[in-house]
Amino acid sequence: MTTTTSGPSVSAQPPAPDTTVRTYRQFIDGEWVEARSGATVESRNPLDDSVFARVPASSREDAAAAVQAAERAQPAWAALAPSEKRHLFLRAADLLEARTDRFADALAAETGTGRAFAQFQLGWSVSLLRHAAGWVFRPSGELLRSDNPHTMAFAERKPLGVVAGFTPWNGATVLAWRTVVAPLAAGNTVVVKPSEEAPVTAGLMVAEVLAEAGFPAGTINVVTHAPADAADLAEEFYANPAVRCLNFTGSAGTARTIAGRSGAALKRSVMELGGYNHVIVRDDADVDHAARLVAFSAFFHQGQICMNARRVLVHRPLHDAFLARLVQVAESLPVGDPRDPSTIVGPLINDRAVAQVRTRVTEAVAAGARIATGGTISGRICRPTVLTDVPDDISVSCEETFGPVVIVRPVDDDEEAISLVNASRYGLSFSVVTADTARGMEIASRVDSGAVHVNTPTVNDEAHMPNGGVKDSGWGRSGVDALDDFTEIRWMTVELGTRALPL
Ligand code: NAD
Repeated sequence: MTTTTSGPSVSAQPPAPDTTVRTYRQFIDGEWVEARSGATVESRNPLDDSVFARVPASSREDAAAAVQAAERAQPAWAALAPSEKRHLFLRAADLLEARTDRFADALAAETGTGRAFAQFQLGWSVSLLRHAAGWVFRPSGELLRSDNPHTMAFAERKPLGVVAGFTPWNGATVLAWRTVVAPLAAGNTVVVKPSEEAPVTAGLMVAEVLAEAGFPAGTINVVTHAPADAADLAEEFYANPAVRCLNFTGSAGTARTIAGRSGAALKRSVMELGGYNHVIVRDDADVDHAARLVAFSAFFHQGQICMNARRVLVHRPLHDAFLARLVQVAESLPVGDPRDPSTIVGPLINDRAVAQVRTRVTEAVAAGARIATGGTISGRICRPTVLTDVPDDISVSCEETFGPVVIVRPVDDDEEAISLVNASRYGLSFSVVTADTARGMEIASRVDSGAVHVNTPTVNDEAHMPNGGVKDSGWGRSGVDALDDFTEIRWMTVELGTRALPL
């Protein structure tokens, strides 16, 4: 992979940079506070490495204070009348909606997010809050049938207590709101440890909105930290008995540590992890539609969404025409400054991400792959890259490459395609493109994936849908189904007669 200093269609005149650097405090027990040590850490703009914000650099004792506050607040929050909770969620939705432009600017500056994805994230999050306003009135259990004639029996759903949330940086706003809303709606209180790459957009902004909406002190707490201290903060979550659930969204590698440690502490964990997402393009597909669907699935947010397509399996008769059209679409995508609303492909998050893309593409070429388009990097901006002739057993064919890189591979038939999809250890999102919808549904039914889509992209989400993974992609579900993850069932009986006892 080559590195260049300029590219032909990098957007010409980006808006003037905002040089104001804001220093934030974190949110613990209803107060905006500094880290106990007074230390701060910078959050930087991925496009030019300028400082976007300064945030508290917390240690475990800050996390402990946040957990204590959440523990104190939980019983009253769980007992608050549903109508009052509904009012708070609806007020938060309105406040968030009114901040769309400011938060979209922050997403661009802190995470390199383009306008379209930023607006999608904010709209999704507003929608989630409005759904949650209704969830608080859902039945909290079931009436069961006891075999004892005079016994009434119930299954009652109870909150867990304190839920500790870990957010990633990549879909910062959606994932921060997803981390807090369902646990809160289920009657838990929350401590969020946002990604060190997005402490503002994947954490502090949530606290800003919920604080202004009037959520009681301690119900939501956000503790930011320096990159090296994530594991130190997490120690408090494993060790403190008040934390009953670790709610993690991030990479499978980090999840192994957190799921392992929470398992050893006998605490519940919810895992929303990465994927290796496939698209099957059948020979009856419309070539132009298939190429556009794949380009969106692969390159939106510069390939840094867990649901991005990583490999396309194309029926051999359509392969060459599909590849030619995909290359045309990829080359037409504007790349550059995410603050320019026309930009589709902005910068990767950091130099490690750039190095991963460069290494994976270089390895593929050394193994015989061909770069059909792309393969150049300017600063942190990687041009949409399409690879062909890639061996099935190298990293880029099996592991998530978090950048705008997609493989196109011919297949003889649906059977070969399905077996290649199911050979992956991941199972997050899958699409099939075909004119034969019934056949598409049949294929989708045989694929191991938490989400399967017929003629819709792999990047696909609505706030109330049960998105989530299988296999190494995790086991949490979003939408209303998340309420099951953040509650436990208590069995209750009431004797209305006199039970005959065996003594
Ligand atoms: P990451 O695993 O590096 O970090 C996620 C979170 O874990 C961050 O808050 C980080 O600070 C924390 N963390 C990292 N190491 C830790 C440790 N040793 N102890 C405690 N906490 C630690 O992931 P990322 O780079 O922020 O996010 C991108 C990944 O997330 C990709 O793999 C992507 O596919 C996945 N993802 C999945 C979903 C989903 O819904 N399934 C959504 C978005 C992102």
